[in-house]
Amino acid sequence: MAEVRLDNITKTFGGVTVIPQLDLLVPDGSFTVLVGPSGCGKSTLLRTIAGLETPTAGRVLIGGRDVTDEEPSQREISMVFQSYALFPHMTVAQNIDFGLRLQKMPKAEREQRVAHAAKILALESYLQRKPSQLSGGQRQRVAIGRSIVRNPKVFLLDEPLSNLDAALRGQMRVELAQLHRSLNATMIYVTHDQVEAMTLADQIVVMNGGKIEQVGAPMDLYDRPATEFVAAFIGSPK
Ligand code: ADP
Ligand code: MG
Repeated sequence: MAEVRLDNITKTFGGVTVIPQLDLLVPDGSFTVLVGPSGCGKSTLLRTIAGLETPTAGRVLIGGRDVTDEEPSQREISMVFQSYALFPHMTVAQNIDFGLRLQKMPKAEREQRVAHAAKILALESYLQRKPSQLSGGQRQRVAIGRSIVRNPKVFLLDEPLSNLDAALRGQMRVELAQLHRSLNATMIYVTHDQVEAMTLADQIVVMNGGKIEQVGAPMDLYDRPATEFVAAFIGSPK
């Protein structure tokens, strides 16, 4: 079980409340997409789940366990960011392996995990290259590879495709959907792109000003938007 539950989460920065008393259930194994305009609190919410931000009030539960006071490394989650900062002096294999080495995992298991991730992400023939010798899409796959090898129960992805051009974004969307099926993990994916949300999600969470406007399957939001905001947001893809 690796559902994620946010229980009455409030986040305040310097006296300004960015997220007021938010509740959310992300079902185990779901592909849940957080959408909403820039500044509505998507990244803050994701970082709170990851443990990179401490909520001002409320609790974070992962797999039924209260992790509110746990360090990010204890949470069995993995986060992929928009700017996929790879180590430029390391090969693809070394980049993917890095986190496992930090954990002091035995070499044989590390090699097996890196090989498995490379296979899933079609990076097998690029393992000895440096990031500078890769395309944008390949670099993003390496960044995802660094998450996969750690076998997290929950993947957090914060606008991972926004630096890619439209054609690559479309291709990576298909790959992410396949990845979700093959890993059988819970994914929480942030985007401000309605098309991405509609095509990837089995559950969409529409946020506005730190609050949740509506949670539902893509077609539910499309057919029965709960608010004007949801209707306008879902109904006007870029
Ligand atoms: P989104 O990811 O939806 O664009 P963010 O979660 O990044 O939104 O930001 C939500 C709000 O919180 C914004 O108004 C932003 O300026 C503010 N904010 C985020 N992080 C910090 C911080 N570390 N300090 C102060 N304000 C912050
Ligand atoms: Mg953001």
